[in-house]
Amino acid sequence: QSLFNDVPVAAKDPILGITEAFLADQNPEKMNLGVGAYRDDDCKPVVLNVVREAESRVAGSNFMEYLPMGGMKAFTDLSVQLAFGEDAKPIQEGRVAAVQSLSGTGSCRLMADFMHRFLPESRIWIPKPTWANHHNIWRDAQVQQEQYRYYKAETRGLDQEGLLEDLSKGKAGDVVLLHACAHNPTGVDPTPEQWKEISKLMKDKQLFPFFDMAYQGFASGDCTRDAQAIRVFLEDGHLMGCSQSYAKNMGLYGQRIGCFSIIAETPEEAKAVESQMKNIARPMYSNPPLHGALLVKEILGNSDLKEQWYEEVKGMAERIISMRTLLRQNLEDLNSTMPWNHVTEQIGMFCFSGISPEQVDSLAKDHSIYMTRNGRISMAGVTSKNVSRLAEALHKVTS
Ligand code: PMP
Repeated sequence: QSLFNDVPVAAKDPILGITEAFLADQNPEKMNLGVGAYRDDDCKPVVLNVVREAESRVAGSNFMEYLPMGGMKAFTDLSVQLAFGEDAKPIQEGRVAAVQSLSGTGSCRLMADFMHRFLPESRIWIPKPTWANHHNIWRDAQVQQEQYRYYKAETRGLDQEGLLEDLSKGKAGDVVLLHACAHNPTGVDPTPEQWKEISKLMKDKQLFPFFDMAYQGFASGDCTRDAQAIRVFLEDGHLMGCSQSYAKNMGLYGQRIGCFSIIAETPEEAKAVESQMKNIARPMYSNPPLHGALLVKEILGNSDLKEQWYEEVKGMAERIISMRTLLRQNLEDLNSTMPWNHVTEQIGMFCFSGISPEQVDSLAKDHSIYMTRNGRISMAGVTSKNVSRLAEALHKVTS
């Protein structure tokens, strides 16, 4: 009798399942629209030139020792400036607690564990739908989860009414997870006016915003514009938490580099909160990895490199936006009777196409086009060469 006899095989990750089916497909024109990583117009992964430059500048660094528990201070200082704005009042007033995290996932997990330890009465409100890992993260941290309505299938847009109605049921001290921009998986973001309404309701109800910002700059091509939701909440004087990831916007996926921050009421509070963030990190992974922090610090800390990065992230965003335009145009040229306006109205890496799970299956079976069964198309896998084939296949399975 083995010790591991009763360990069941874990359920397959839906995205990995798609990749497996994609790899086994012999069709030379097959398309993988499941994966959430940027590709260029030849469907190739990209390393940004600015990252190459930063690499050459940090190469030969004779510091390879441990970072402190909270990571590299010069990095977290620059990172919170990017999220909240260089002249943000909470930064000037020393009210921001921040630690380097293991990318966006690691930030979320630190927040969840922080809630478990210090906010035991607080629940986490998660949008419906959301990035599936949010549920796992707060589940493993043993925090009670609530869901709020977000996406309206009939309009393929935001269910603002449902959202406000659900959040109004929150109790003071509850935490609300908000996708700062480029909502995953729907690509539907509130407008600035809608953000204002959400912010006001949350202020009235004393709900604490936690922004998951995995795509700053990657959505619109403009880092300030993509942080507009955060700026609205800052103007309203909210305290808030923020998760930043440099996976998408700098293409540093595997480096696991991000930042977890909390704006507190006073500098003393921020100091205490930051010390506890480090305390949570210590028994989990001791201290975060060095290389990604060196790269991001080099880029954000140097005005020329930062400018170059702005250009490159804009280039990635614009390629994706232009694929949306082309996809919609191709579908309309085919006289599709379905509405496809949401393809260009949604923003970010993903297009929530609105097709059924059965239609997704037939795209895979009959056209070698693979995506998650919720109909989410990763626009990163769409190129000027395959967009017309995608449009034709979508038209066929929907008519
Ligand atoms: N949050 C959201 C909404 C995401 O889409 C992602 C990436 N898929 C993440 C967090 C975390 O990504 P990472 O840990 O690679 O930064």
